[in-house]
Amino acid sequence: MISRIDLRGSLPGDLRSVLPRAELDVEAALERVRPICEDVRHRGAAAVREYTKKFDGVELESLRVPAAALERALAGLDPAVRDALEESIRRARLVHRDQRRTDVTTQVVPGGTVTERWIPVERVGLYVPGGRAVYPSSVVMNVVPAQEAGVGSLAVTSPPQQEFGGLPHPAILAACALLGVEEVYAAGGAQSIAMLAYGTDECRPVNLVTGPGNIWVAAAKRHLRGVVGIDSEAGPTEIAILADASADPVHVAADLISQAEHDTLAAAVLVTDSEELAERVERELAEQVARTKHTERITQALAGRQSGIVLVDDIEAGLAVVNAYAAEHLEIQTANARQVAERVRNAGAIFIGPHSPVSLGDYLAGSNHVLPTGGCACHSSGLSVQSFLRGVHVVEYDRAALAEATARVVALAEAEDLPAHGAAMKARFNWEIPT
Ligand code: NAD
Repeated sequence: MISRIDLRGSLPGDLRSVLPRAELDVEAALERVRPICEDVRHRGAAAVREYTKKFDGVELESLRVPAAALERALAGLDPAVRDALEESIRRARLVHRDQRRTDVTTQVVPGGTVTERWIPVERVGLYVPGGRAVYPSSVVMNVVPAQEAGVGSLAVTSPPQQEFGGLPHPAILAACALLGVEEVYAAGGAQSIAMLAYGTDECRPVNLVTGPGNIWVAAAKRHLRGVVGIDSEAGPTEIAILADASADPVHVAADLISQAEHDTLAAAVLVTDSEELAERVERELAEQVARTKHTERITQALAGRQSGIVLVDDIEAGLAVVNAYAAEHLEIQTANARQVAERVRNAGAIFIGPHSPVSLGDYLAGSNHVLPTGGCACHSSGLSVQSFLRGVHVVEYDRAALAEATARVVALAEAEDLPAHGAAMKARFNWEIPT
């Protein structure tokens, strides 16, 4: 069901090229997504409605979800789910509130200061997936950091569901209502990202789009970056587990399966120095997958070339592998897991020890689950309050501090053959360089 890659002996120089990774060709998906985005740009809501009919099988007159539907969804929410969502929100708020930035003023010279002022993005569009699975948890993960950052205007969009009269899933609407989000659209995929970016007569354009999604969503975000701000590419889920012989194969298998459940393109990778653990995990996978609800999807994800068991000589080599892989989620299930985790450089989020499974992070750890995929964790972070803030430098020098800087500014301006820059300084001192 899951392939093996044996890297014992010596690790190849270009590790990334031999590691399992989805042939997730976002570039190829772009070919399909570009015309959809252009169509929405020119024809607005009519185009979004047409693609919604084509891809989601739903015909809608208006994409905006009425306020009454949000209230109804909250009233009808299963009390156990409501309790879990409320606790998820509470924990996420605790973590994200601590991420808030304070403005910092640095006195550079006497009379000369630079302040970094943190200003929230004005209007944000938040994508909540709803194709193969529905993700009320992603409402929490998008909305809480945006609210904690102080974003004034939030629009949530999520695919319409045939079985719920063309509205997004009621649990998603209920999560929006719990968080006080009033502007919600029934639209998914590339067409909804274009709707947020370009705006339509129903939806004002946003400044920033965040949120996870499938390959079509990831491709639309890549295409529209620049038209709007985009968070990292949070595409099909990945889990990597670095484990030694001390790990419990039942837990390791269950955790690999839990993430394979997201998508046929989801990636599940075990990196271990224990052949015995590898064998026991393989046996566990066969047993546990057969008992899952989404057996076919999970089997496809585990059998895909994006998943595998990587055998290494020792945990040292395992660390090299997981750092090269840069997984969205990385579990460390080894002896001294915390010390091993300290040596991880590249991962979207790290889960330490036997009692911190990724499922906890998906819903209730307090951490954010919108995380970079496809190796992007080596340069990008998951969603946080910071994603919704801009740091603006505010410069204030007095006359004496400017005078003291003039000669150097003029020298640099002349070195760049931009003498008017120097002149703008000298203009303040009778066209001379003050001494
Ligand atoms: P989705 O909402 O991302 O995508 C559904 C939409 O895709 C539909 O509304 C439709 O418009 C569009 N679509 C479907 N087929 C299409 C086609 N052939 N051409 C163009 N558009 C098409 O929902 P999903 O499919 O369930 O995917 C959710 C994804 O989000 C999963 O891959 C999951 O792993 C991922 N995820 C990632 C993170 C993260 O942080 N990285 C977190 C949660 C979920």
